[in-house]
Order: sequence, then structure tokens, then C-alpha cells
Amino acid sequence: MRVCVIGAGAAGMTASVFLAREGADVILVEKNEKFGKKLYITGKGRCNLTNDCELADLFQNVVRGEKFLRSSLYGFTPQNTMSFFEDLGLKLVVERGNRVFPFSQKSSDVIKALQIEIENLGVDVKLGTEVKQIKKTDDGFCVVTAWENIKCDKVVVATGGMSYPSTGSTGDGYAFAKSFGLKIVEPRQALAPIIVKQNVSALQGISLKNVNLCANDENGKEIASEFGEMLFTNRGLSGPIALTISSYINRKQNVVLSLDLKPALDENALDRRVLRDFDERKNQDIKNVTRALLPERLNAYVLKCAGIAESKKVNEITKEERAKLVKTIKNLRFDVQSLAPFTEAIVTSGGVDLKCLKPTCECKDVEGLYFVGETIDIDALTGGFNLQLAFATAVCAARDIIKKSAQSAQK
Ligand SMILES: Cc1cc2nc3c(=O)[nH]c(=O)nc-3n(C[C@H](O)[C@H](O)[C@H](O)COP(=O)(O)OP(=O)(O)OC[C@H]3O[C@@H](n4cnc5c(N)ncnc54)[C@H](O)[C@@H]3O)c2cc1C
Repeated sequence: MRVCVIGAGAAGMTASVFLAREGADVILVEKNEKFGKKLYITGKGRCNLTNDCELADLFQNVVRGEKFLRSSLYGFTPQNTMSFFEDLGLKLVVERGNRVFPFSQKSSDVIKALQIEIENLGVDVKLGTEVKQIKKTDDGFCVVTAWENIKCDKVVVATGGMSYPSTGSTGDGYAFAKSFGLKIVEPRQALAPIIVKQNVSALQGISLKNVNLCANDENGKEIASEFGEMLFTNRGLSGPIALTISSYINRKQNVVLSLDLKPALDENALDRRVLRDFDERKNQDIKNVTRALLPERLNAYVLKCAGIAESKKVNEITKEERAKLVKTIKNLRFDVQSLAPFTEAIVTSGGVDLKCLKPTCECKDVEGLYFVGETIDIDALTGGFNLQLAFATAVCAARDIIKKSAQSAQK
């Protein structure tokens, strides 16, 4: 049985290994001149390849496609991913938050492990070969590339999403899917910096710990709320909690963000703290007192939002002004303008509609055609979860192909 796998990223390389190990004749086609260009930049070059957690925790970190992913993730768990790589000779290390990295801290070692196995298994690798079209034939498929037509029995499309397009993931899988009549859920940026309407350029570079960011819709209904670290950029918010929030607001309009700079204190407790500071430094400028609560540049921004002049003496601050200050610290408002473009989004939300696929990732209406990895409408949060989804869907498709070919050989 000849299987053409399109895309030598995380999903395509894994599918190739699982197919070739079971004796399939695999052709792996990649438009770049090398394997795993995106894998190389994952985890800031360290590759957080999975998360050593229970499946229940994993599902909590899936943003889209949780139900669909059940069979692939039960079939190939994070612990299976770890054993798979360890068996390839890659030593692993589990870090904070169960994040799994190669012990060498080099993403290139993850790529190397897969590449060596692919070569050892005799997979026919065609690098620098862009697939232009997939055609259905009487006895299988014809994969049309710039150089040749590849005839095969089955096709696995693992072309990724649209984020970081310089890595080769330019949404080509969507066109292939459409040509077979499959629906595409409009791709949106996920795990992307958030651009806000307010001018926050003065805050660029400030990083905050132990803050809470909450996203509400235009009616004030909470969409998502995250506690942790974030960072101001020239045009908005980034860092772990902002990236997480972005994945939940990427299909919403008029989203309002509320940043709680002191989540450990409720409004009353914060007011008591401010009052105590005021009592101790009655004759000072307000900015010198609130400096104890907030980083320098954020201090000026918060006072401006609260409508209090930085040089106003503490003993001149009215009760109303103090209440406004406390409210602003607890609820610093930002109106979302958009998410940063796909060039800055870690993953793509949307893609091949899961309703068109069986849980094995095979198209319901086109036997033998599979879509795996980020090209389908699945996405997850940071922590190694997105690569886990890519590996698990790839393995699920490969196993289904092998199972079906064994069944048809028996007939
Ligand atoms: C900066 C960054 C850091 C990340 N860090 C992490 C992390 O640490 N942990 C984690 O879990 N996730 C991380 N991710 C997300 C993760 O990298 C992706 O979810 C994952 O790589 C998706 O795998 P894939 O195989 O589906 O697609 P990709 O890895 O995008 O691979 C698709 C491949 O298909 C090829 N291709 C596309 N079109 C064609 C065509 N027409 N013909 C031939 N080949 C084609 C592409 O060139 C590419 O090589 C990160 C993403 C980014 C951008």
C-alpha cells in the first residue's frame, strides 16, 4: 500500500514513522528544503513536545475539538509520546507545569530523532517539493507536485495551519480540503498577542506577575479569566495569560479586558492598604505613594486612567478619587482592537471542519483521504499540548490506514 504524506512537520513526520513501521510504502512530501522548520522554533528553540499530565488535564487545555480528539488522545497519550521519543533515543526532561523537553534543550534533537527513524525505515522523502493539488483517481489518488504526479492509495494531509507562514505553514491544506467539498472553519489567530485600542506604548516592556486578566463580551459576560504573568507590548498585551485569553476571544467582537493588578486583595482590603499608605505619607505627591504598589511607568498610566494628577498631594486626594484609584488598580480596562497577525500567532484556530471527518481523521465522504495536525479545527493552550494534538492525530490516522489495509488484504 502506497501512502503519500504531505508536510514534514510534527504530524507528517510522525504519521510517516507509524505507517512505515507497519510496512506501508510511504512517500513524504515537504515543500521546504528541510524537515520540521516550525518544530525547530518551538518552545523558544527547546521544543516543549508534550505535557506529562493526566488526560483529564490535557482535555482542560484543549480550546477547540475536545470531543473529536477523544479517540486519538486516548489512543496516543502524552506518556505514549514520551515513550515514543525515548525509544528513538531522545532523553527527555519534565519541567515546571509538567512540560516535557528534550534533555539537551534543543528542538533540533527532536527533529533529528524523527528524521533518522524516517530514513532508517526507508521512507521516500521528497524535500523542496510543493504539493499543488490532490486528485481522486479510479484506484486511489494522484498528488500533483511542481515536479511530478505521485500515485498512491491513501493521502495524509499534514500541512499545518497558517501561523508563522515563513515556516511553510501557509494554509495549503484548506485548499486541498475545499477541492473535495470539505468545509473550512474560518482560520483565526490563537495564542497571539492582543492589540488594544488604548495607547499603551509607554508601557512597552513592563512584565507583570500574579495579575489577573479577564475578558468580557460587550454585555459584560465573562468569556475567560486567567491568573499569572503578562507583558505589555508597543500596541497591547502579550505573555502567558494574554496568549491564553487570545485563544478564547478570537471569534468575538467588542471584547473588553479587565486587568486586576492586585488580585490577592479585594477592593476593601486594597482600599485599607492605600489608606494606610496615605496616612503615613500625607504630604507627599500621590505618585510617590502609589509607586509602592505599581511599577514606575504603570503607576503613571494608572493615575492618568484614574484622573488624578501625579503631582497631587496625598492630603488633597478626595475620598472619591481614592475610590477611583482603587477601582482602576482592580479593573484596568483595555478594549480589544484585534489580535496580532498570523505571523505572530503561535497556532491557528479553525481549519478543516471536524464535522467532515471521522474520529480517525479520515474524511467522511472521501475514503482514504486524511487530515491531521493543525490543519484541522483543533487547538490548545501552551504547555506542549499543541504538539501532542499533532502527534496523536497523526498516529490515529496512521493506525486506521494500517488497520483498513490489513482488513482489505484479508478479504
Ligand atoms: C513560535 C512557535 C512556538 C511553538 N512552540 C510550541 C511548543 O513549545 N509546544 C507545542 O506543543 N506547540 C508549539 N507550537 C505549536 C506547534 O508548533 C504546532 O501546533 C505544530 O507544529 C503543528 O504541527 P503540524 O505538523 O500540524 O504542522 P507544521 O508543523 O506547521 O508542519 C506543516 C508542514 O507542512 C509543510 N507544507 C505546507 N504546505 C505544503 C505543501 N503544499 N506541500 C508540501 N508541504 C507543505 C510545511 O512546510 C510544514 O513543514 C509553537 C508554534 C510556534 C509558531
